[in-house]
Amino acid sequence: MKRIGLLIMLGLLIGSAMPLDGQAKSTSKKETICIDPGHQKKQNLAKEPVAPRSKVMKVKVSAGTSGVKTKIPEYKLNLQVGLKLKAALVKKGYRVHMTRTTHDVNISNAERAKYCNAKKAALTVRIHADGSTDRKVEGISVLYPDDQVTKAINKTSKKQATIMLKHLIESTKAKKSYGTGLVPRKDLTGFNWSKTPVVLIEMGFMSNPTEDQKLASDSYQKKLVNGMVKGIDASLK
Ligand SMILES: [Zn+2]
Repeated sequence: MKRIGLLIMLGLLIGSAMPLDGQAKSTSKKETICIDPGHQKKQNLAKEPVAPRSKVMKVKVSAGTSGVKTKIPEYKLNLQVGLKLKAALVKKGYRVHMTRTTHDVNISNAERAKYCNAKKAALTVRIHADGSTDRKVEGISVLYPDDQVTKAINKTSKKQATIMLKHLIESTKAKKSYGTGLVPRKDLTGFNWSKTPVVLIEMGFMSNPTEDQKLASDSYQKKLVNGMVKGIDASLK
């Protein structure tokens, strides 16, 4: 009886260890990433405080830019890339949450930050595209929080932004915009309400006809996503 009991126990141990082991291999990365595809179908011009306890009010969700050539609105491009990023991250074993998966939503920038806070994300990635009155301006930039109110996340976010930019440039061969491509910000509601490290990727200028068309293409979006995934992998190591 004792030997049979032992054999059963052994069998149970092996039986339970094997699937666990297999599972551990496929989901070795367990960090949670929150993706915020910027803007939405209809802007919301109602206002909210730019930061907790702040008297400065800012528009809840602005309209965003649009493609000078393609006429694609920024909110569509942002979600297209956001969904591709989600798929790529899930494949690598990350847990991924998205502030929106459709266009017709009404979620303010503060609400988006609070959503990612609640998910306890290791990193929040805000996806945007840029616009300028100068059609020649082009390139990628990565923004990070740099205010007193976000001091708990400033250092980590800057590090993540630096790594993210490096991999985005390597993958896309795009130029860095705004000089270094790294932009500290004190005035973004989506940063100031964030308790998770957060970066905002400006993928390129939709006001530049060539870059606008590039941003709309599946192949370039894949390069962007590839850079983002490598950046996330490297910064969360
Ligand atoms: Zn935007």
